[in-house]
Amino acid sequence: MTPSDTPQSHPRYTSLRIRDRIVDGLRRGITSEHGLLAHGRGEAFDYLVGERTHAFANAAIEAAAAKMLLAKTPVISVNGNAAALVPDDLVKLSRAVPAPLEVNLFHRSEKRERLIREFLVEHGADTVLLPSKNYANGVDSNRRFVNPMGISVADLVFVPLEDGDRCEALRAAGKEVITVDLNPASRTAESATIAIVDNIVRAVPILSRIVQDLKATATPEELADNIERYEHTTVLAAARRQIVDKFSV
Ligand code: ATP
Repeated sequence: MTPSDTPQSHPRYTSLRIRDRIVDGLRRGITSEHGLLAHGRGEAFDYLVGERTHAFANAAIEAAAAKMLLAKTPVISVNGNAAALVPDDLVKLSRAVPAPLEVNLFHRSEKRERLIREFLVEHGADTVLLPSKNYANGVDSNRRFVNPMGISVADLVFVPLEDGDRCEALRAAGKEVITVDLNPASRTAESATIAIVDNIVRAVPILSRIVQDLKATATPEELADNIERYEHTTVLAAARRQIVDKFSV
């Protein structure tokens, strides 16, 4: 962790501490320079939603947890920002479901893939899948390469902090997609099966806890009810209203 000398009394203390994790990720070679910019976009949206988890995010998290537990071959796709921000929680989620972690990068390098895998293993992951040059899905970028045991055969992919092309390609390939994206108007949020409009640092710990709770207590019928209750367009509309309200006078 890079030590930030920001005092706790600073109004943006939490946001600045989260930023430290991304900067640390960059120094470790886990996060790309482009990842810094994507994080800045996320920060802006987080400011607009008031930097807290709203009811629309909790509704999506409940449905996402149920969907992950009912999926046959769920996979958790990890990019450089997700790894830098929530390594422990991704590992906990992976164990709880269970679902393998698979590294998948837009700005791909074998070194960065290896560093992310090592970082997740340091944080307790058993297995971390890497993309294979021989297996491609329909995306026109480095992200088309996937692991034959992972995303290639997954029926559901949890892809936090995604770009729209890949989300649409995964949907076109017949896979269900759960995303975490602070922008409710992004192509990713719109095309995903379930969109959790919240900061990944708040959403993934809650998701991991709810997966554990539901796994211990819920019947398959109750899980199916959770999914049934989720209304994608209503959730995105509520998130957009929250942002608009920020500017109402
Ligand atoms: P799309 O292609 O889906 O329209 P985009 O071009 O904005 O989206 P990227 O540049 O890849 O996609 O950005 C990733 C998304 O992740 C952005 O919408 C950004 O708001 C969001 N994001 C960034 N950091 C976080 C975070 N910490 N938590 C949740 N969402 C985040």
